[in-house]
Amino acid sequence: MRFFSSKQTIGILGGGQLGKMLLSTTRQWDIKTNVMDPSAESPCKVACNHFVQGDLMDYDAVMSFGKDVDILTIEIENVNSDALKDLEKQGVKVYPQPCSLKIIQNKCRQKEFYIENDIPTASFEIFESKEDLKDAVARGFISFPFVWKSESMGYDGYGVKIIRSNQDLENVNKGACMAEDLVNIDKELGIIICRSPKGETLSYPCVEMEFHPEANQVEYVLSPARISKAEAKKAKDLAFKVSKAFKHVGLLAVELFLTKEGEIWVNEVAPRPHNSGHYSIEAAYTSQFEQHIRAILDLPLGNTGNKVAGVMVNLVGKEGFFGPVYYKNIEHILAIEGVKPHIYGKKETRPFRKMGHVTIVNKDLNVARKIAEQVKETIEVISK
Ligand code: ADP
Repeated sequence: MRFFSSKQTIGILGGGQLGKMLLSTTRQWDIKTNVMDPSAESPCKVACNHFVQGDLMDYDAVMSFGKDVDILTIEIENVNSDALKDLEKQGVKVYPQPCSLKIIQNKCRQKEFYIENDIPTASFEIFESKEDLKDAVARGFISFPFVWKSESMGYDGYGVKIIRSNQDLENVNKGACMAEDLVNIDKELGIIICRSPKGETLSYPCVEMEFHPEANQVEYVLSPARISKAEAKKAKDLAFKVSKAFKHVGLLAVELFLTKEGEIWVNEVAPRPHNSGHYSIEAAYTSQFEQHIRAILDLPLGNTGNKVAGVMVNLVGKEGFFGPVYYKNIEHILAIEGVKPHIYGKKETRPFRKMGHVTIVNKDLNVARKIAEQVKETIEVISK
């Protein structure tokens, strides 16, 4: 393996917090990294060997960045996948593989992939434009409520909206989309699968995601999920089935719905480190970030089990605050045992912007969950 203390380079497209956390492993192992991101102030800038400012959707920018690296990976899905395909043809190892990424980038195509592979998912109807969807509603083919999902470029809930009336429908963006059945959700679950080029596949424990009711963003992630053994097994079997269908290399975060009727359905996947796996830095034997690096370098995969229970709280910008960030009361949460903050290094806060996260570790998941609430009530992400 030539990557350790050598000129061999891993390229990462995207310079946000996920990239920054990947870099803690590459630095630990003295592996050279190049990172590209559109923002000159991206969190990765302080931790990579070489930073390139560039548009991730621009074919030429991605080609020019990718030709100088030996292995190319991503920390965000919205990148130019045609460039990735051409780089792969030129001999660059690209993980996740561009063919899987292309399917995942498009929410509609992703849903069709589940149908083709007999993977349970909520029923949906695809429309080429908002006008076509409105027409279907007017004719009574689609009825309220349903979930509108934009075909592309959605993240953190921005391309998803529950539609209960014609007025709601007026407010969504134009463009290709789908109308998905509104699922009667009992719990939102997540499982991260890691897969190496040889096909060695391991799964992290099933986690539970608790959502903020207004922002539609994850508020707490609990590892392990508070579900029965039978439900956890069903979730894991399904996540392995999804992984097998994609044949990805690296991580695949599988988001699942446990319905009130006891069914488990796939919502969507992300072929990269994921917010639902941040707990693994402190609570698992191998963090998701180290695991992704192990997988793309074709190294043995690490133990995915938990050492202790972990609860993660996202630190998002408080409503009403814009501008240079200030982490009020961080010293108070640091006084609590088992509380581990991560600050991403974004200079400016705005309402609900992901600025960092805190992991709470404890032998007892319920204790960790209680401390997590205390953390959330104490720390404030504001501007001065
Ligand atoms: P994003 O890619 O923006 O994260 P998701 O497809 O994961 O979008 O949806 C965001 C959230 O919206 C989900 O975690 C869930 O809370 C809710 N949601 C998505 N699809 C449905 C659905 N079909 N029924 C009910 N809620 C849904």
